[in-house]
Amino acid sequence: MTTNVRSYAAHSPTSSLGLFRFDRRSPRDNDVVIEVLYCGVCHSDVHNVRNDWGNANYPMVPGHEIIGRVVDVGAQVTRFKAGDRVGVGCMVDSCRHCAACGKGWEQYCESGAAYTYNGEDRIDGTRTQGGYSEIIVVTQDFVLKVPDGLDLAGAAPLLCAGITTYSPLRHWKVGAGSKVAVVGLGGLGHMGLKLAKAMGAEVTLFTRSPGKEADARRLGADQVVLSTDEAQMAEVAGRFDLIIDTVPYVHDVNPYMPTLATGGTLVLVGYLGPLDPMLNSAPLVMNRKAVAGSLIGGIAETQEMLDFCGQHGITSDIEVINIQDINEAYERLLKSDVKYRFVIDMASLKDAA
Ligand code: NAP
Ligand code: ZN
Ligand code: ZN
Repeated sequence: MTTNVRSYAAHSPTSSLGLFRFDRRSPRDNDVVIEVLYCGVCHSDVHNVRNDWGNANYPMVPGHEIIGRVVDVGAQVTRFKAGDRVGVGCMVDSCRHCAACGKGWEQYCESGAAYTYNGEDRIDGTRTQGGYSEIIVVTQDFVLKVPDGLDLAGAAPLLCAGITTYSPLRHWKVGAGSKVAVVGLGGLGHMGLKLAKAMGAEVTLFTRSPGKEADARRLGADQVVLSTDEAQMAEVAGRFDLIIDTVPYVHDVNPYMPTLATGGTLVLVGYLGPLDPMLNSAPLVMNRKAVAGSLIGGIAETQEMLDFCGQHGITSDIEVINIQDINEAYERLLKSDVKYRFVIDMASLKDAA
C-alpha cells in the first residue's frame, strides 16, 4: 500500500515550486521509511529545477540534504529501527557490483547511480522524488547514521555540501601541513573551509566578494585572497597542494593555476561543462599540475564524513526557512545572499495550503 505524501515540487523550469501530493511506495523488505525533519537547499536544486543540465523531468520534488527520523522498516532491515536519526544524500541506490561500486564509489557507478530526485528507481523504474516532502523511502544501504550530538538542522547540508568537499580532501590526502584553497564561499565552500581546517591543513579562501573576509576567518580560513585583485593573486604564487573550486558557473580557471605548487591539483566540483576561456596546458605540463573533477562521495565515505563531523563538532552555518519561503530562497541563493546554507524546517509543510 502506497502512502500519499505532501511535498513541494516544480512543474517547469520557470514555474515556482508549490504544494504537490504524490504516492511513496510501501517499504520493500530492505527499505527504511523516513519522516523528513530538515532538508538543505543546494545550488544543484536550482540547477535541476531550472533545467540547467538539460535532463529535468517534472513534476520534480528536489532535496538531497535530508535529515529525518525512521518511522518504519521493511522485514529484512537490520541496521535501523524506528526512532533512529538518519540522513540521505544525493543517491538512493546503485548497481552494487560494477568496479566502481566495488570500490565504494557508488557515485561513479558504471550503470549510473540512482539519484535521490530527478532519477529513476532501479527496481520499478519510477521517477525518484527528493526531500522537500513529508516522507522518503530508501533502501537501508543508502541510509546514513547521524552521530549523536550533531544539531539535526545543521547536519542536513553535510549530506551534499559536506561530502562533496570531504571526498576530494581525502582523495588528495590532505592532512597536517597541507596547503588547501577553496574557491567561492557558499554552501560547499564554507564546508570546505571547516573540513580542511579540521584535517589540519593551512586553509585559504579565494573569493570575488570583498565582504566575506571576517566570516571566512571564523569558518577556518587562515588567509583570504580577493580573486579579482592581481597583486593578491601574485602573493600566493606556487602555494597550494589542492584547490577546490566550487563556482557554479563557467569562469576562467587559468588565473588559479600559478597559485598551485608543483604537482598540485585544482579540482572542479561546481561547474559542469566546457571551460571558457580554454585551459592553457603549458603551466600544467611544465609543473605537473592537474585539473580534476569530483562528484559527491561514496556511501561508506559519507558515513566516515558524518562520523568525522561528529568527532569534531562540525555542522553547517544555516538559515532555517519554512517550505513556503523556498522560491525566495532560490532567488537569494542566485545572488549569493545566504550564510551559508538554507535548511527547510519540514514541519512547515504541515501548514502548506
Ligand atoms: P552557492 O552556495 O551558491 O555558492 C557558490 C559560491 O560561488 C558563491 O557563494 C560565490 O562565492 C561563488 N560564485 C557564485 N557565482 C559566481 C560567479 N559567477 N563567478 C565566480 N564566483 C561565483 O552554491 P553551492 O551550493 O555551494 O554549489 C556550488 C556548485 O557546486 C553548484 O554548481 C552546485 O550545483 C555544485 N555541486 C556539485 C556537487 C558535486 O558533487 N560535484 C555537489 C553539490 C553541488 P564568493 O562570493 O565567495 O566568490
Ligand atoms: Zn547538492
Ligand atoms: Zn555500480
